[in-house]
Amino acid sequence: MSDTKILSGLESSKALYESLHDRITALKEKGITPGLAAILVGEDPASQIYIRNKTKRFDALGLKSEIHRLESSVSEQELLDLIAKINTDDSFHGVLVQLPLPKHINSDKVIHAIDPTKDVDGFHPENAGLLAIGKPRFIPCTPKGIMFMLEHFQVDLHGKHVVVVGRSNIVGRPVSVLSSLKALGNATVTLCHSGTSDLKHFTKQADVVVAAMGSPEFLDASFIKEGACLVDVGINRIERDGKSTIVGDVNQSSVMGKASALTPVPKGVGPMTIAMLVENTVFSAELLLN
Ligand code: NAP
Repeated sequence: MSDTKILSGLESSKALYESLHDRITALKEKGITPGLAAILVGEDPASQIYIRNKTKRFDALGLKSEIHRLESSVSEQELLDLIAKINTDDSFHGVLVQLPLPKHINSDKVIHAIDPTKDVDGFHPENAGLLAIGKPRFIPCTPKGIMFMLEHFQVDLHGKHVVVVGRSNIVGRPVSVLSSLKALGNATVTLCHSGTSDLKHFTKQADVVVAAMGSPEFLDASFIKEGACLVDVGINRIERDGKSTIVGDVNQSSVMGKASALTPVPKGVGPMTIAMLVENTVFSAELLLN
């Protein structure tokens, strides 16, 4: 039994915001205020909270942000037209469309419509491809935030075995690529998913486990080896003791004392995701100077 270090996303995101100050000042001195246009379709309560939290930070840092709220009945073409308009608006350096979209809208088509040089979510195939060949431009915010966190807390991935559970394009797959890149993680990576037989066989070998499955408290102490570092990406709303609460994909109380380090839920990876959206938007504005 050892102490499990809690890797606070509030602490690491604060460090990131501090590092952004000089970059934002330098841009403003050149007459550039980084700007984000966020598009929200429908009234999904979780999406509304996400968008509000994301744009709040822009205001606090003196950056520009605008939320475009569209009715859930909006047509795909109307959404594509709005994206086309923002693509050509020089005051916006980043465009994001909050997912999920209503069923009648093709999400892939929408993501493809975003100018890849303003794709601060990093979901456009051009940016996903650049990442896959080891020349990343826009990296999806959650994976980028995880890498920043690990570096901030001096969790060295070099030569380590990283096991990622979940292969989504938003979290799991890009984390696996980033961890394996020589210049970044330089780790040996195993990517697990729902088709993995005997998940425990892999997670028990891991020096670092990234849990991105969307299964509440699925990974308990029996899945990890002593001293493993756990990155809990999951955000799952469950009912407990008659109250609604948010839990991760890791059974956090179970792994205490066995894991060497753990990102909490909430206040772990979540704040880093938002911080990286700001960073990607600042980075996008900086690209104009090159
Ligand atoms: P997703 O698209 O649903 O992907 C989940 C992945 O986990 C899939 O690859 C799935 O396998 C795999 N999986 C599911 N159950 C499994 C099991 N029992 N064993 C092994 N693999 C399993 O989810 P996501 O968008 O990546 O998000 C994952 C979690 O992270 C969710 O809770 C989400 O809310 C949270 N999240 C948090 C943040 C943040 O800022 N903290 C950001 C994004 C997402 P298949 O591919 O075979 O289906």
